[in-house]
Amino acid sequence: MSWSFETDSEFQAQLDWIETFTKEEIEPLDLVFRGPGDPWDPKSPAAKAMQPLRDIVKEKRLWACHLGPELGGEGYGQVKLGLMNEILGRSRFGPSVFGCQAPDSGNAEILAHFGTTEQKEKYLQPLLDGKIASCYSMTEPQAGSDPAEFTCTASKDGDEWVINGQKWFASHARFSEFLLVMVVTDPNKPIHEGASIILVEQGTPGMEIIRNAAVGPYVEQGDGVHAYINFDNCRVPSENMLGEEGQGFLVAQTRLGGGRVHHAMRSVGVLKKAMDMMCERVLSRTTKGELLANKQFTQDKIADTYTQILQYRLHVLYTAWLIDKYKEYNREVRKEIAAIKAATPKVLQEVIYRAMHLHGSIGVSDETPLMTMWASIPELGMVDGPSEVHKVTVARTILRDYEAAPDLFPSYHTPTQRAQAMAKYGHYLDEA
Ligand SMILES: Cc1cc2nc3c(=O)[nH]c(=O)nc-3n(C[C@H](O)[C@H](O)[C@H](O)COP(=O)(O)OP(=O)(O)OC[C@H]3O[C@@H](n4cnc5c(N)ncnc54)[C@H](O)[C@@H]3O)c2cc1C
Repeated sequence: MSWSFETDSEFQAQLDWIETFTKEEIEPLDLVFRGPGDPWDPKSPAAKAMQPLRDIVKEKRLWACHLGPELGGEGYGQVKLGLMNEILGRSRFGPSVFGCQAPDSGNAEILAHFGTTEQKEKYLQPLLDGKIASCYSMTEPQAGSDPAEFTCTASKDGDEWVINGQKWFASHARFSEFLLVMVVTDPNKPIHEGASIILVEQGTPGMEIIRNAAVGPYVEQGDGVHAYINFDNCRVPSENMLGEEGQGFLVAQTRLGGGRVHHAMRSVGVLKKAMDMMCERVLSRTTKGELLANKQFTQDKIADTYTQILQYRLHVLYTAWLIDKYKEYNREVRKEIAAIKAATPKVLQEVIYRAMHLHGSIGVSDETPLMTMWASIPELGMVDGPSEVHKVTVARTILRDYEAAPDLFPSYHTPTQRAQAMAKYGHYLDEA
């Protein structure tokens, strides 16, 4: 029996270094580089600014720790990644400086598993080195949560695949060297057996970005990074199919499970940062002759915030531990991944709202990071599937372990149970 909430001292020393490095060297990047492509666009000035920091991270052997040593990573399990990511989540740039940014991290795993030698040479190494960007494109303008509604197809013509249809919200497509596109290859089969993933190189004739959407109204319209794409007889060589035909969802699982849990881990970092701000503020502000911190309404908010963050953090780390133990394809593990995915926007909403509220006007202004945090909550309830879909997974998995009552009355019907209990122990009463 082993059960522990401790981090070994060697790894704790690394986490302490990561925390100082993130606060002192990485968080300032957020204040300088605010373009919609930052920090992912390798051609943005931010990429240059990140390079010396990335070199330090590589020297410290903390680069792309989610990957195995054969791919230049450290093969960290999810618990270690969780502890790291909850620090990196403090900054938009954290994951990129440490080589574990989405969607490139998941795309690299897909290429490593399913790419040809040539594809790996051309794309995998530069991607792992942070020199190029990549895109994962699945959502369509008419369908996101329900893949059965996907209509973008690829049909075989000689030794080529011909893609026709549209994709929507394909993040980073405009500056990616390649896109991994989910296409319907057999419309007569259920989607989980009739879809495949195809690598499309940037600039392939027949692929056109119609426009780029942004999250929120904060950048010039059309200057966002989420592409609306049209494929019109776009031809790619047959070896660009990753995995077998019809195995698109199996291939996609290589990235989605990890991605969901990493979003949650980084959200722990955001939550802690919001709580730090909340606590500093209430200790700095006086109203009606006393510190805001001394008001019971404030104390209620601080206590609820602390408890919620701790509960969420432990749930995330528990899920990470489960993945390390059983791998993410296990039913129970998928239940927890879905549960934390659904919990993420809710806990962020409650904690960040409290932090903003306690700051008053400055909390809703552009003079603290809180409003930026607030604006990112809805997207976390949407990326990698909306909360409702994940809650359905949780509920269905839970309900599999239960059965309907065998009778008209519930199995916990007190009169029935009392009669059974009396039959077992009632004679003690009679004797008395
Ligand atoms: C910032 C951001 C980045 C993204 N990046 C990418 C990317 O790189 N590649 C990519 O392919 N996609 C990407 N997406 C798209 C994302 O995967 C979809 O938004 C998501 O799958 C939901 O699809 P949808 O937007 O079509 O919404 P819909 O499927 O139309 O869902 C809208 C709403 O309907 C309700 N709903 C849906 N299904 C159910 C259900 N079963 N039960 C009850 N209610 C339900 C929910 O309230 C849901 O929020 C990104 C999205 C965002 C916000």
